[in-house]
Amino acid sequence: MSPAYKTPEQRDRWHKRTCARCGRHGWFAARWPDGHVCRTCHDKALRVRGQCPACGDERVLPGLRPDDGALICPDCAGFMMSYRCSRCGREGKLHGGRLCTRCTLADRLDDLLDDGTGRIRPALLPLAESLLNADNPVSILNGLYTRKGKIGAPDDLLRRLGRGEIELTHEAFHTLQHWRAAAHLRELLMACGVLPTVDKQVCLFESWLVGHLAIIAEPEHAQIVRRFATWSVLPKLRAGADRRPLTPGSQKYATGQVKHATAFLIWLSDQDLTLTTCRQTDIDRWHVEHNEHNRDTVRPFLLWCQSTKLTRRFRLPPRRPGGQPRSPRTSA
Ligand SMILES: [Zn+2]
Ligand SMILES: [Zn+2]
Ligand SMILES: [Zn+2]
Repeated sequence: MSPAYKTPEQRDRWHKRTCARCGRHGWFAARWPDGHVCRTCHDKALRVRGQCPACGDERVLPGLRPDDGALICPDCAGFMMSYRCSRCGREGKLHGGRLCTRCTLADRLDDLLDDGTGRIRPALLPLAESLLNADNPVSILNGLYTRKGKIGAPDDLLRRLGRGEIELTHEAFHTLQHWRAAAHLRELLMACGVLPTVDKQVCLFESWLVGHLAIIAEPEHAQIVRRFATWSVLPKLRAGADRRPLTPGSQKYATGQVKHATAFLIWLSDQDLTLTTCRQTDIDRWHVEHNEHNRDTVRPFLLWCQSTKLTRRFRLPPRRPGGQPRSPRTSA
């Protein structure tokens, strides 16, 4: 609290008023001819554009005509301050009392996406352009202040992209912290053509896989699971996505295969077995012990193990009717 106020009550007396537009008592954003306005009413009023019924000009219409309450332009309403951007001349909410949202966002992106030469990294120009031309520049600008400066925050991701610390590949995005912000950015990069388009469910599976492999305790298990996922699960998922957008169900089925492959390897270890020493009786025992929902899910892994000669050949129980399909399902 500024030392000018001795008590919170004093501070509230200075800065809080009843909003002339919505009647709520709180912090005010401006004093307009019809009274003090709160931030919400202030920002909302500055988003309204149209022909001023008093002067006929096409402008922003934050004012209220006293006799009929019609929305009018700042000049006709007798506003003391201008809401015209000092750079582009567009009227609307100003940041720092000077620049409109789009110009403020442009400056912020120039700074964040700078490749070190004082210019936006050329490969990222389509990203900057699509962010600037979005319908909601205010929420994009606000988003860039979310967890500002923290690792994995939106502004941090953009800065590292600008400097080339994050490569422009899908793989680079799998290991980023705060996967939600990273996934969102990755979608934006695909939408503006900076990254090749990949099905959303495939993206989610790939991100999940990185995390899953990292928590497998046994390096040899992790290596086998990685090979299974890379050479068997992912190609099927991608082939499905080439036909139609995948549903979350197919992603769940793919993660299930990987989880059960991992569980199977741990079970083998617990029995002092490996894929090489595992025999038909052990496979039968696994199926007796795991008779429930995961019986069909480990089947693709066992088939892959046989085809890659990691195991000898086994007789596997027939797939149960109504069990999960082997190829990824696609949405209608
Ligand atoms: Zn209000
Ligand atoms: Zn007017
Ligand atoms: Zn501007």
